[in-house]
Amino acid sequence: MDCDKCGREAVMNAAYSGLHLCEDHFLSSVDKRVRRRVREDNLVPDDATPEEPETWVVGLSGGKDSVVLTDILHRTFERDPRIELVALTVHEGIEGYRDESVAACEELTAELGVRHELVSYEEEFGVRMDDVVEDDPENMAACAYCGVFRRDVLSRYAEELGADKLLTGHNLDDEAQTALMNFLEGDLAQIAKHFDASLGGFDERGAGEDPTREAGDHFVPRAKPLRDVPEKEVALYAHLADLPAHITECPHASEAYRGEIQSLLHDLEENHPGTRHSIMAGYEELAALAAEELGAREGGSADLGECEQCGAATTRDRCRKCSLLDALHAA
Ligand code: SF4
Repeated sequence: MDCDKCGREAVMNAAYSGLHLCEDHFLSSVDKRVRRRVREDNLVPDDATPEEPETWVVGLSGGKDSVVLTDILHRTFERDPRIELVALTVHEGIEGYRDESVAACEELTAELGVRHELVSYEEEFGVRMDDVVEDDPENMAACAYCGVFRRDVLSRYAEELGADKLLTGHNLDDEAQTALMNFLEGDLAQIAKHFDASLGGFDERGAGEDPTREAGDHFVPRAKPLRDVPEKEVALYAHLADLPAHITECPHASEAYRGEIQSLLHDLEENHPGTRHSIMAGYEELAALAAEELGAREGGSADLGECEQCGAATTRDRCRKCSLLDALHAA
């Protein structure tokens, strides 16, 4: 098959658009989609200047999504002094998994000349995810603990690094899966949160939204500039651009429901190309309506206080992270 743009050999065929593209035109089409999303989401504010640049903290796990996002953002803004990129990696303490992906992060950031910060649960909380799954005092899935700890670390470090925005590498498949899950679970509050740009998570599988999130546990606006690009295309991009991505699944990954939704969406997309795009187009409108309605009902304000142990914003006396850490340290 030939490239529709130049007639050279095509490396991909996008059934949803009917386009066949060669390597060069495919790579540039992904770059363009990310840059268009940055523009359409108004991520670069009018008042950003070289003297007062914006700091964008990019969650870099070392997986293909965050590696591709970091690479594209770097090339987009390397000559734009209004934007400063900082890559932030969280080490959860997962043997045989995270060490390799941290190495990929270090290789990429050294190559690009991007500042790289590494934080670990062990240093922050005195726990490692490998031990958490052994003890499991709350009888929960590993990701439920991990999500709470990750959000706490990211919120604090984003503030400490002076971040104006926190960017994550969620792709189109991640987003369509989350949309469908929230819809099928009938979770209007979760749907409404999609409208709030302060969404997402740093789960490298894209499973960031989880029900353990507390209102107000993040303050830095979040963005997902890779969300128009299908997962397969992100993987192809990482391969063709020879990026140092670490492609292994976390041994503690445990979201059976998301797996079911993933295979359902895969079949729908095969039979009806464009399904993921149309889900997201409708979902974004629905989320805006839900946010407006819920905001009007609740008067637009959450009843937030401070955790008596760590001072983090929470609707309870002690935040979820402190409760979980107490249970783990007592186990
Ligand atoms: Fe943590 Fe779950 Fe992601 Fe593994 S898959 S890193 S346990 S959130």
